[in-house]
Amino acid sequence: MSAPGDGAGQRPAGWLMTLTAAGALAFCLAYLFAYVFLAPYPGFDYDSQWHVLGFDVKCWDHPDWCAANQDSLRVGDRLLEIGGLTHQAYERSRTETPFAGYAAGERVPIVFARDGVVVRADWLMLGPTGAALLTRMGGGLALFLPFWLAGTTVLLFLRPRNARWYLLIAFNYITAAWAAVGVPSTSQVLASASGLRALSWLLVPVYLHLHLHLLLPTSLLPPSRRYVSVLAYTLAALLAVLALLNIHIVPATVTLLIAIGGSLGLLLLRGLGRDASNIRQAARLMLLGVSLALGPGLVLWVIPQLLRFPAAGQMFVTLSTLAIPLLPFFYVYALYKQHLGGLEFRANRVLSLYGFLVLFVTVFIVVFMIGAGPIQTSSGMLAFALVFSTAAVIAALFLRPLFQRFVDRLAYGTSHNPNDILRAFANEIPRALSRPDLTRLLTHAVSPSLLIRQSALYVIRDGAAELFYADGAALDPDDDAMPQLQEVLHGAGRYRPPLVTDGEPFAWVRLAMRIEVRKKLVGLWLLGQRDPDDYYPQPDVELLAALANQIGVALETARLFENLQRRMAELEAAYRSLQKLDELKDEFVQTISHELRTPLTYVRGYTEALLDGTLGEITAEQREALETMHDRALGLIRLVNDVISIQQQALEKLEREEVYLPALARSCVLAAELVAGSSQPVGRHFSFALAVSENVPPIMGDRRRLAQVLDNLLENAVKFSPQGGAITVRVHPRRYLFDGQEPDAQPQLAVELSVSDQGIGIPADQLSRIWGRFYQVDGSSTRRFGGMGLGLAIVQGIVRAYGGVIWAESSEGAGATFRAVFPASPAADLGREPV
Ligand code: ADP
Repeated sequence: MSAPGDGAGQRPAGWLMTLTAAGALAFCLAYLFAYVFLAPYPGFDYDSQWHVLGFDVKCWDHPDWCAANQDSLRVGDRLLEIGGLTHQAYERSRTETPFAGYAAGERVPIVFARDGVVVRADWLMLGPTGAALLTRMGGGLALFLPFWLAGTTVLLFLRPRNARWYLLIAFNYITAAWAAVGVPSTSQVLASASGLRALSWLLVPVYLHLHLHLLLPTSLLPPSRRYVSVLAYTLAALLAVLALLNIHIVPATVTLLIAIGGSLGLLLLRGLGRDASNIRQAARLMLLGVSLALGPGLVLWVIPQLLRFPAAGQMFVTLSTLAIPLLPFFYVYALYKQHLGGLEFRANRVLSLYGFLVLFVTVFIVVFMIGAGPIQTSSGMLAFALVFSTAAVIAALFLRPLFQRFVDRLAYGTSHNPNDILRAFANEIPRALSRPDLTRLLTHAVSPSLLIRQSALYVIRDGAAELFYADGAALDPDDDAMPQLQEVLHGAGRYRPPLVTDGEPFAWVRLAMRIEVRKKLVGLWLLGQRDPDDYYPQPDVELLAALANQIGVALETARLFENLQRRMAELEAAYRSLQKLDELKDEFVQTISHELRTPLTYVRGYTEALLDGTLGEITAEQREALETMHDRALGLIRLVNDVISIQQQALEKLEREEVYLPALARSCVLAAELVAGSSQPVGRHFSFALAVSENVPPIMGDRRRLAQVLDNLLENAVKFSPQGGAITVRVHPRRYLFDGQEPDAQPQLAVELSVSDQGIGIPADQLSRIWGRFYQVDGSSTRRFGGMGLGLAIVQGIVRAYGGVIWAESSEGAGATFRAVFPASPAADLGREPV
């Protein structure tokens, strides 16, 4: 005995295999020919003990022949002599053919025994009728052809060629030969009687070896002791030769009992064992094949006998014959299902459908026979047949899936329901956003529920394969595996039988699934070792393909998510560096401002002294120049003060006193009016108005700073109203819900201060941006209106410092209103209602 896998290298030549198949077929056909054309047609069948088994034709077809033989043989009679040939002589010779030499219509003198009485009669030969020829042809073919076909399928199409391959071919061919020789053996033509006994001897080692191989796939015998099996085969061959020479050591039944009984025993031993292995699975499938193939024949032979039903009939014989192919093909499927690739699933479905039909029809007939037994009338029979058939068809619809599931459990071991697994992961996989999430889901949930012990995922991007995860397989993440993956990729979606490939990194892969997104290959999912037998049948391949699609979605989502996170990090970095720049700019401007303040004070002081005339007389032109200089110096000083005041806002301790805004507003408006009146060019005329409510409560703040708010707002109103117009300042009390107050609290008593103008206005999308330092709506307005973009930043800083809010309401060309709301001084908020 040798281990599976060995001998895979030495392959028999193609011509030798074809020759073997053709030789086996020729041998079987020769005996079929002998059965159909050489064995005489007396008109009845008999066994090797010359018991009459049944008649070939119905009497209504051949009334004359029936009438002539009317008083002669009946089923159950035992012949003693046929045309002068005694049964002893027949048995002794093994080559004498009963009825040989008698043509159709001739009378053969026969002697037979019935109920202990010896009867002599003449038997009218029927001769070969068309129906009898066809029956023999069909019956003979049906017995050997399935085995020959199964053997030839294995021989020509299946791999690997190991010990089991040879055994399976030998099993099928020897069984085919045995069946072909056995059919005409009672007539002893072509030495079929001795041939049958000889072949029975050859069955013994082949049958036992095949089934023992199943039990002990790895040889118990060391290579040096292999001669033991050679010895066994030689012994069997010797006994076969002796049988051909008509020397029989044990009766043929004993030989058969050893071969068939021994094989069944080994199968049961293996199939009913507890360990979960592929061999146990194979043994179970083989047992199923044996039961389905032989069961119907046995049942249909036994039940009619028990029920004393009239002659078993041709139908039963046909049915039991039709069941035979299940045996060789279940054997081939069981032992080679891992090597059938895409055909495996179809083979499974065809075999289980065929098996189901045979089983169903057998049960149907048996139950029908039992049920119909007591019915006497023909109308009752018809009704019973109708009802029973309908019920049976309905039952078949329900039983068929059950049977299929039973076969699947035998074939695949695992009993998972693909729909459940798909449903369980269809939602989860695409939600696994990151690499660790997806890896955990695949290795901790998906693989275990499919009994997969080894798997890996490669992400394929720009023609390179990057390892995403590896579970139970040693793979180097730094390697670009693409070149080696090509071969795996090529066979993706198909089961890869284990072949002898040393040192190849992906030799462990039993199944590779392509992962595609929009028809583009984005990954490869590799699956290896799996319980119980590392096998991936077609239904699982389809399930895994569906899961691979889900993984594709997940990979794509994870990629997008990663991109998004990268972009966010980039944006954040950019924002940070901008902020840094902004701080640097502020620092720079403030340093410069401090440095400017002292020289500017000198410029202002000296120009004032010059203008005063303290330093001597000046001409009118000099005065004009000095005044311009003085103006500009004042402007610059204001700017420098602004810049410094912004810096100080953050550092300075805030002064808080009660301030009455109406009074403050009044003085600021007055001042603005003065400045505007004196400094504005002719034709630019403003009308200032102040609207102040009564009962305006005081607010807490610093008078000087709050005046700065008003000054800046008024200055802007004047500056951005090129044609002049009304500028209105309003102060009135109101209720306001400040930030930081409880959302369901009462709005707080507050004072609203607003400055409205009819100037150029501010575009709506700029309203929130004007508060930024150095921000100006229009760059060109710097030239037109002067300023640095600091005023509103200072205003906002001050308003917020006293707990207030400020916003602008405007649209382009429609004037602007700046509204500031300050909380009223706490002392003021007692029972006072705003008007
Ligand atoms: P500056 O007036 O020195 O430019 P501000 O901070 O006071 O700086 O104002 C910022 C910008 O807001 C101005 O440049 C101007 O574009 C806009 N702005 C402020 N007040 C008004 C207003 N009353 N009417 C129209 N635009 C205004």
